[in-house]
Amino acid sequence: MGIYDLLIIGSGPAGLAAAIYAARAELNFAIIERSSVSGGQVQSTYEVDNYPGIPGVSGSELSEKMREHCERLNVPFLTESVASVSEADGIFTITTDSNTYQARTVIAATGATHRKLTCKGEEEFAGMGVSYCATCDGAFFKKRTVAVVGGGDVAFEDAIYLSKLAKKVYLIHRRDSYRAAATLISQAKAIENIEFITDTVLESIEGSDMVEKINIKNVKSQESFELAVDGVFIAAGITPENDLFTTLADHDANGYLIANEDCATSRPGLFAAGDLRTKPLRQIITAAADGANAVTSAIRYLG
Ligand code: NDP
Repeated sequence: MGIYDLLIIGSGPAGLAAAIYAARAELNFAIIERSSVSGGQVQSTYEVDNYPGIPGVSGSELSEKMREHCERLNVPFLTESVASVSEADGIFTITTDSNTYQARTVIAATGATHRKLTCKGEEEFAGMGVSYCATCDGAFFKKRTVAVVGGGDVAFEDAIYLSKLAKKVYLIHRRDSYRAAATLISQAKAIENIEFITDTVLESIEGSDMVEKINIKNVKSQESFELAVDGVFIAAGITPENDLFTTLADHDANGYLIANEDCATSRPGLFAAGDLRTKPLRQIITAAADGANAVTSAIRYLG
């Protein structure tokens, strides 16, 4: 094994695309992933309709296709959880739960995770009616009443998905305009059992064993209301999975590793690809593009 040319950490679209490019460049490399189910956030996306050439594909199918592509190129997958990454004299040392590896370059592709609302009851009822993944947990709410919180693409996708299972879906957003794609908004507005509640925040989630109600407040009128719901799906965006890298490279105020399209970070040899890096648009296609760019930059760095 010796010292790898490249180790890729994370197997979402950025990591998998990087692996495809690294395999085709015949680098001595491996990809380290926490779980053998690749795809990152895409894995739990109900439907992806903006990835060219594969319209209307489910997130899990697209993830599987990307992984199969890697397997066809004999990409070496290491299913281990990375505990630390350090660098000395141009060599990176990566410690996992079961091994220690060395590499001359690293692509950080750990992506991002769900942002919490940090309202009362959110943590207490996680898994007991509070969920961050409609496609994972929606089936538990057949013919029940649920709330979705957020105003982005994911909130709308979740509301549309849940409207097919649940009796009623409240889509609660803190402002009166949405950042979701116009097509998703018009799709959702045409669905009868979705009720739109704007300018409203969650104050608390309550229940006994399971979620039974939420307390919400209109931020304009300052009036508070109680809504009886069986589930709360939180779609409040993402925060970067940066724990392994914040001492190694510069990051912005939100924790994203600072890198341009060449994916080079402030640490020579460390490249950031996908949702983890500073970028104007976080999409599957831009993550995959980063994977390709990061490998090209790593090859240039390796000389
Ligand atoms: P976004 O950041 O786009 O939206 C998050 C939403 O949550 C915003 O409406 C925001 O409100 C709201 N929010 C944030 N914090 C709070 C809070 N504390 N309390 C209440 N509301 C809050 O995140 P998404 O998860 O929807 O999407 C993430 C990225 O993934 C986006 O770039 C999206 O386009 C992309 N995506 C791509 C898909 C694809 O390629 N097919 C599919 C799904 C998502 P406000 O608007 O006021 O800031």
